[in-house]
Amino acid sequence: MITESEIQERVRQLGQQITNDMAGEIPVLVGILKGSVVFVADLMREIAGPVDLDFLAVSSYGQETKSTGVVKILKDLDNEVSGRHVIIVEDIVDSGLTLRYLNDYMAGRQPASVRTCTLLRRQGTQTADLEIDYVGFDIPPAFVIGYGLDARQRYRNLRYIAEYTGQ
Ligand code: 5GP
Repeated sequence: MITESEIQERVRQLGQQITNDMAGEIPVLVGILKGSVVFVADLMREIAGPVDLDFLAVSSYGQETKSTGVVKILKDLDNEVSGRHVIIVEDIVDSGLTLRYLNDYMAGRQPASVRTCTLLRRQGTQTADLEIDYVGFDIPPAFVIGYGLDARQRYRNLRYIAEYTGQ
């Protein structure tokens, strides 16, 4: 669906955009484990100047491939984000409920600002009311794998994004 070189080019653009928007600030990138690991590793290297990195691990209750919006924090931030400019980095936004929850969760920790960044956004499925600041690609309504995204923990190491057609 999306090739390695298309991803590289878009990640470079997002890094430049964040560099410009964050001029003079040191943002904290908060990657959402595990799906955003590959994306955040590439994205942070496309940002010029200092950045801090932290991670949250979450699990959504309910079905495996559908979000309910009820999110359980499995691993919290290592460092305080009060007074900091936070950028939440997600792999994919479907309903938007996970990112919405995480945005509110982060906003409750007195940061200077919270922005949201996602590599992928599925078209036409967002029910949550949330503006996303940085979007890599809008994709059609297929379940996708690769570049960090899994199907039952597999395929995260693919260098490209593919539609998952397996069982
Ligand atoms: P939302 O809360 O926006 O409905 O769901 C977002 C979460 O669902 C993502 O962080 C991801 O964990 C999972 N998800 C949604 N669509 C896909 C997909 O196509 N592939 C994979 N691997 N995970 C997905």
